[in-house]
Amino acid sequence: MSAFLTLLARNRLALGGLIVLCIVVLLALLTPLLPLKPPNVTDTASRFQPPFSEGALLGTDHLGRDLLSRLMWGTRLSLAVGFSAAVIAATLGAAIGIVAGYYGGRTDNVIMRGVDMLMAFPYILLALAIVAALGPGLMNALIAVAAVNIPFFARNIRGITVGIANKEFVDAAKLAGMSDAKIIVTEVLPNVIPVIVIAMSTTVGWMILETAGLSFLGLGSQPPVADLGSMLGEARSALITNPHTSVVPGLMILVIVMAINLLGDGVRDALDPRLKSGALSRPMPATMVRREGPIPQAQGDDLLAIRELETQFHVKDRVYRAVGGVDMSLRPGECVGLIGESGSGKSVTALSVMGLVASPPGVITGGAVYYEGRDIVGAPYETLRSMRGRRVAYIFQDPLATLHPLYTVGDQLIEAVSSHRRVGREEGRAHAIDLLKQVRIPNAENRIDSYPHEMSGGMRQRVGIAMALANDPEIIIADEPTTALDVTVQAQILTLLSDLRRERGLAILFITHDFGVVAQLCDRVAVMYAGRIVEEGPTDAILNAPAHPYTSKLMACVPELGGGRRRLEAIPGLPPAVDRLPDGCAFADRCHVATEACRTGDIPLDPHGPARRVRCINPVLAPKTEAAQ
Ligand code: ADP
Ligand code: MG
Repeated sequence: MSAFLTLLARNRLALGGLIVLCIVVLLALLTPLLPLKPPNVTDTASRFQPPFSEGALLGTDHLGRDLLSRLMWGTRLSLAVGFSAAVIAATLGAAIGIVAGYYGGRTDNVIMRGVDMLMAFPYILLALAIVAALGPGLMNALIAVAAVNIPFFARNIRGITVGIANKEFVDAAKLAGMSDAKIIVTEVLPNVIPVIVIAMSTTVGWMILETAGLSFLGLGSQPPVADLGSMLGEARSALITNPHTSVVPGLMILVIVMAINLLGDGVRDALDPRLKSGALSRPMPATMVRREGPIPQAQGDDLLAIRELETQFHVKDRVYRAVGGVDMSLRPGECVGLIGESGSGKSVTALSVMGLVASPPGVITGGAVYYEGRDIVGAPYETLRSMRGRRVAYIFQDPLATLHPLYTVGDQLIEAVSSHRRVGREEGRAHAIDLLKQVRIPNAENRIDSYPHEMSGGMRQRVGIAMALANDPEIIIADEPTTALDVTVQAQILTLLSDLRRERGLAILFITHDFGVVAQLCDRVAVMYAGRIVEEGPTDAILNAPAHPYTSKLMACVPELGGGRRRLEAIPGLPPAVDRLPDGCAFADRCHVATEACRTGDIPLDPHGPARRVRCINPVLAPKTEAAQ
């Protein structure tokens, strides 16, 4: 709740709306206590007094009634009717929507067709018809306004409920034997209440206007009782001669509706978690770059060289150092593994290469990425776009999430090709079939017309690889491509990648959390922890003698086939949160050999024997060295 208020207060306009609304509501509540003249006493001797005249601050109307007093009482009435209508509409509408959405099927159909029928009428006509049937009067106007708004709430809430009713936690509640009524109250309702509040806060103003409209037409509050609409209606005939009688209630309506709408927008933004995290704001086409320090130079003639790369997420006043200075390189045709626990920054490193980290909140704050010797961090979007897919292609973990569900795999392959060069229909299709054959999809001529959901997980991942191969890239970055697959399919995909690499001279950056996979595929491996590389070197050397305590613990987590019975160790504790990284070694708290020295300063990635580097001041020594001592 307090977080909600802080968020709301940060939105200046919403805060302004809230303050104005509070003042108006407070005044309306206090009206009976204020020393005002009676609102309905006529005094024809002093008709149409201008504002600021003796005894009438806002003047008087055509019957000599005090406008200030009528305004206060009228505001009180209009607010009360508007809010009541909103509460009634929201309650009934939400109840209808929840029942329709939760039970679905025929119930849903009958209810929603009824709602559709109501929605088919222009709402003001419907309100007029209802008032005409019930007879004029403020109570009937309230009923009419509430009734015409019920469909809006019912539709909105039904949509949300349908989504929730199919969620696993609702299934779990059903399996636990909860009754429907209890599930609706404990599982569904808490999830739709924010939506109800949002819908209400954005429609209250509208309902006050509608009530005022009915009163203006003489169908709402009846003389002599004033509400804002009827005051406007009565002042109509004197609009030219005595404009103040219209301006006073008109301004009040404007102020109230503006305040409510500004506040409503603020409430929506503060309640919607997606808006909070900036996910609904349009991300920039490439990751934002704000490099402060000096830009590191390229060394050697690597195909891809990542130098001291730093990528952070700036969320409100927090800074998440997801990647904190990563050095890696990839030579043509080489396969490098990037390994680490979940959350260690592997994906963010990979996405930073082509500027694919979403901004906001992502920012590249330091370092460089050299592709064939050219720094591509902060390169113009057009440059990055022309390289994405054509020089560096990605394969992701879940192809079902990356393939479009409504297009055939053939169409998607052709699209991948045609985003970089013009291809005719026939040529594109032939190329797509060829790609499917390259990734060993049997019967490619027919499979090309399948939709993603018609394929198995392994086949889909092959399509994902075919997409990556579509434009003949030099580098493939594979982000846990086999994590979602079962072990036999995983082995097939790894074999395929390793064959493709040999056939086409591909360089592969292979991200995984599985040392077994690294051993099978990679020439070199880099171990990542809390956003930094902690150990790097040839795969064999590291597998035989891990130097960083983290590496050895990570390897101890992998079961070995034929390795006999042994206890599988889990690494105790959790990785540190990347917005609160400790001084010194980030692994110190979980390390069995950590000393005081490990907890201060910056621990460099030092050479460790030939072609290896390790970021540790007490590295585990290789068995051979130990023997020599
Ligand atoms: P993994 O190694 O599992 O691929 P990631 O690269 O996805 O890890 O994430 C690295 C770190 O960045 C994690 O600690 C994660 O919490 C953080 N992170 C990722 N995306 C965001 C984001 N949009 N906002 C804040 N933090 C993020
Ligand atoms: Mg990841």
